[in-house]
Amino acid sequence: MSDKPGNPAVFLDRDGTLNIEKKYLCDPDKLVLFPEIGPALKRLSDAGYLLFIVTNQSGIGRGYYTEADMHRVNERLLTSLTPAGITFREVYFAPEHPDAESRGRKPSPAFLMDAARDHDLDLSRSYMIGDKFIDLACGWNAGVRRSILVRTGYGAEMEKRHAGELKDAWVVDTLTEAANQILSADHNHTDDIVGKSLNR
Ligand SMILES: [Mg+2]
Repeated sequence: MSDKPGNPAVFLDRDGTLNIEKKYLCDPDKLVLFPEIGPALKRLSDAGYLLFIVTNQSGIGRGYYTEADMHRVNERLLTSLTPAGITFREVYFAPEHPDAESRGRKPSPAFLMDAARDHDLDLSRSYMIGDKFIDLACGWNAGVRRSILVRTGYGAEMEKRHAGELKDAWVVDTLTEAANQILSADHNHTDDIVGKSLNR
C-alpha cells in the first residue's frame, strides 16, 4: 500500500448528462453528445480527476435492447471523445429491470466503491454528476465531496420535483459550469491550506 493520497474522480451519468436523453437510446447513430462536454472533461482530466461513467441501463432488463447494443453506444461515445484527449477509466452499467434486484443500479453506491478500490480513489475528494435525483443520491451514498445536478436531460424537471431534497448538491446548467465549480473549489481549498501553513 502506498502512503500517497488517493486520486480524485468525477463520476458521470451517461444519458441526459453527456448526451441528449432519447429514452432507451440503443443506436450509436442516434447518439448526440452535448458539445460542451469535450472541453469540460478535458479540463477536469488535466486537473488530475479520473473519469468514470456510471449508467443505469434498464432497457436491457426490460428487453428493449441488448447489452451488445449498449456497448456499441458506449464505444461510439468513448471514441468520439478520444481525439479530445479524454479517457474514461471504466464504464459501469446496471442492466437490471428497476423491479429486479441489482447490486449496482443507482442510487446504489456499489460501482463508486468498486472504482475507489480498483483505482485508489479518495471519494471524499470526488464528485458525482447527473441529471436525475438518483444520481445525486448515489453520490451521497458513496460519500463523495459533492453531488451535482445538471439541468440538461431530466435535470430541470428533477430540480422542481425534488426541491427541498437537494441538500448540499450544486445545481448547474451545463457540464462546463460543473467543471468550473469543481476547479474553483479545488483552488479555494488550496488557498485554505496555504493560508493555514502561513499562519503557523
Ligand atoms: Mg441520466
